[in-house]
Amino acid sequence: MRFDVMTLFPEMIEAYCGFSILKRAVEAGVISVNTVNPRDYTLNKHKKVDDTPYGGGAGMVLMPQPYVDAYESIEKCENSVTVMLSPQGEQLTDGVVNELANYSQIVLMCGHYEGFDERIREIIKPREISLGDFVLTGGELPALCLMDAVSRKVEGTLGKIESADEDSFSNGLIEYPHYTKPREFRGLEVPEVLLNGNHKDIAEFRLQKSLERTKAKRPDLYEKYMKENG
Ligand code: SAM
Repeated sequence: MRFDVMTLFPEMIEAYCGFSILKRAVEAGVISVNTVNPRDYTLNKHKKVDDTPYGGGAGMVLMPQPYVDAYESIEKCENSVTVMLSPQGEQLTDGVVNELANYSQIVLMCGHYEGFDERIREIIKPREISLGDFVLTGGELPALCLMDAVSRKVEGTLGKIESADEDSFSNGLIEYPHYTKPREFRGLEVPEVLLNGNHKDIAEFRLQKSLERTKAKRPDLYEKYMKENG
C-alpha cells in the first residue's frame, strides 16, 4: 500500500508516521508514505497557493494551478484511488476502510483554509471522504485517520498478537471488554470466566458482552446484527 499525501504541511504527516505501528509498517515495507506539497508546484512568484474568494466572503481558497500540477506529478499505478478529505464527503466507516485497503495506492488530498477551488474537484474527480459532521482546520488529521485505519487492514502491519479480526465492527458488533493484570484493582475483580482457561466459555462470555454493549451503545448496529444473524 502506497499513500501519496498532498498537503501544505508535510511535517504533520511525517511526524505521525514516524511512531509506533505505522513506523514499523513503513520500515518493514508493508506501507510507504510519500508527501507532495502543492507549494512546490506554484507558478506564483511569491509561492502563493491560496487567494481570496470570488464573490467575496471570509477565508482563503486553494488555487487550482498548484494543486492540479502537484496532483499530475504523482505517478499513479493501475490500482489507484484518489481521495479528497472533505466534510462534504461520504463518512469514513469500517466498510469504507475495508474497501480502500484493496487498492495498492491511495492519493490523499488535504485541504486547508476555506477549502478547494471547485475546479480542483472538477478536474481531478476524487472520491470525497469525511471524518464526520464537523469542520476541522485542515485535511491532515482526517488523512492520517484514514491512513492509520487502512494500514491496520493491510497484511503485515499488525502482528498476530494485535490482530484486527476481533476489533469493533469487524463482525458487525462492538468489541467485548478487556482486562489485564492485576486480577483485582480497587475492589474490582477480573471476571472469573477469563481466568479458568476454558476457551469455549471465554468465547461465549465475550460474545455475550459484545451483544450487551452493542445493544446499549449502538442499538442501530445491534438491530442490523440481529436481523442478519438472528
Ligand atoms: N469550507 C469548507 C466547507 O464548509 O465544506 C470547509 C473547509 S475546512 C476549514 C479545510 C479543510 O479541512 C477541508 O478542505 C478538508 O480537507 C479538511 N476537513 C475539514 N473538516 C473535515 C472533515 N470533517 N472530514 C474531512 N476533511 C475535513
